[in-house]
Amino acid sequence: MVDLKSQYAFIRNEVQASIEEVLDTTSYINGPAVKSFQEDLQEYLGVKHVIPCANGTDALQIALMGLKLKPGDEVITADFTFAATVEVISLLQLKPVLVDVDSKTFNIDPALIEAAITPKTKAIIPVHLFGQIADMDAINSIAKKHNLYVVEDNAQGIGARYGSVNDIKTMTGTLGHVAATSFFPSKNLGAYGDGGAIITNDDDLAHFIRGIVNHGMYERYYHDVVGVNSRLDSIQAAVLKVKLKYLDFYNERRKEASIRYTNLLSNHPNIITPHRKLACDSHVFHQYTLRIINADRDALVAYLNTHDIPCGVYYPVPLHRQKAYADPEVNEASFPVTNQLVKEVISLPMHSELTTDQIAFISGKVLSFLKEN
Ligand SMILES: *Cc1c(COP(=O)(O)O)cnc(C)c1O
Repeated sequence: MVDLKSQYAFIRNEVQASIEEVLDTTSYINGPAVKSFQEDLQEYLGVKHVIPCANGTDALQIALMGLKLKPGDEVITADFTFAATVEVISLLQLKPVLVDVDSKTFNIDPALIEAAITPKTKAIIPVHLFGQIADMDAINSIAKKHNLYVVEDNAQGIGARYGSVNDIKTMTGTLGHVAATSFFPSKNLGAYGDGGAIITNDDDLAHFIRGIVNHGMYERYYHDVVGVNSRLDSIQAAVLKVKLKYLDFYNERRKEASIRYTNLLSNHPNIITPHRKLACDSHVFHQYTLRIINADRDALVAYLNTHDIPCGVYYPVPLHRQKAYADPEVNEASFPVTNQLVKEVISLPMHSELTTDQIAFISGKVLSFLKEN
């Protein structure tokens, strides 16, 4: 699905020099490399605070801890996302309230959010799924009206730009009160191990969170709140610092690949290609995900695999049907879109190193399967 080997070949010398610097300073935890990456990312995002941490799931959990929600408080999020988004809500003894998604963007449907709000609702977590920005203007205005926090799950959307007020472009991760992102190796900005970050413009929240990530300490060995231990390694920061310089280039390459795929695959009766808003950088194609309609998606997956083409089904089960999160009070009929999507979606290889030939080969196999079946 990704080609980290070719990507590494291109930046090998820079990455090795950056890692060597860490090895020479022997500052492996919270060293200068972490601070330097943090500052670079703040500048890139145009945000006041980036707080690096151990992974994207921690980042989400810590962002929610920062909001001081109480057990039983409700958090609204999408039914169609990676489980980490709801896992942290449940871990903190908050109640995940799942909402169906929009069939075009695969993101939380703002029209359904208001009906899910109760007096216990405290936050909304939009997920920029597959790299497509959620409908943040609508979500933010609902949040404002009902006095709710907005926590962006930006694990799949880093580098995307949202064209909002007066067409000023704002980076994902800076569109709500606080955001979480992941540097898992296959993410658009991937480390060579685990990593994540919390992002916010709120000075007080940033201060509070900086303590949470470090055992609740604001002064050494004085623990004011119950925190966690969640750190980004200096070596990962050294890798990320190099790769951040290429993030726009990588995302541009993903967009070019998506256009090539779409040119080859659109206008087919069994395929719906990804929705993309015109003249907007609002999609960074973490995944290139098709809907296969009136055809056997699972047979297509098997067919591609026999031709050595990797592909993925993100996600095969909606969260409301996962054993860990199933709620007997929830009505199956509330999720027509997710229930349909889980049967139809297939993600094709998508990364910054895809060649025109590879895209033609993969698309050709998808089309020949649909012709034969
Ligand atoms: C990857 C991902 C996460 C979790 O990130 P990790 O670094 O793997 O913990 C959370 N939410 C979404 C939508 C993701 O894709």
